[in-house]
Amino acid sequence: MHYTGTCHCGAVAFAFEAELDELVRCDCSLCAKRNALMATVPKGQFRITRGEQALCLYRWNSGVAMHYFCGTCGVYVYHQRRSNPGLLSVNACCIDGFDPESLPVRRVDGRSMSTVAEQKKL
Ligand SMILES: [Zn+2]
Repeated sequence: MHYTGTCHCGAVAFAFEAELDELVRCDCSLCAKRNALMATVPKGQFRITRGEQALCLYRWNSGVAMHYFCGTCGVYVYHQRRSNPGLLSVNACCIDGFDPESLPVRRVDGRSMSTVAEQKKL
């Protein structure tokens, strides 16, 4: 199925093809704070259709996962996973006309993934 979506202010728009049968909620410290409810999309089936330059990148911990959010409205849009860089997690609440309550939610144990000790600030 073809999906489209935007951040809150509309600076960033995206489109992807996927057959969604579940959403994912992760309990790592970042997902917990942003209250993320995510759809899993293969990287090759997702594209930013507007506002690539408006996206900001946030990396933490191991620095492998790449978390993108809109630099204007601050809304989390998607991230490239650490566990499988070929898969993206897309903010299900940004998908146009999509009811996040319509799919079962799988809980992922992100909290117990290894974390890198915080580096001393120079
Ligand atoms: Zn925005």
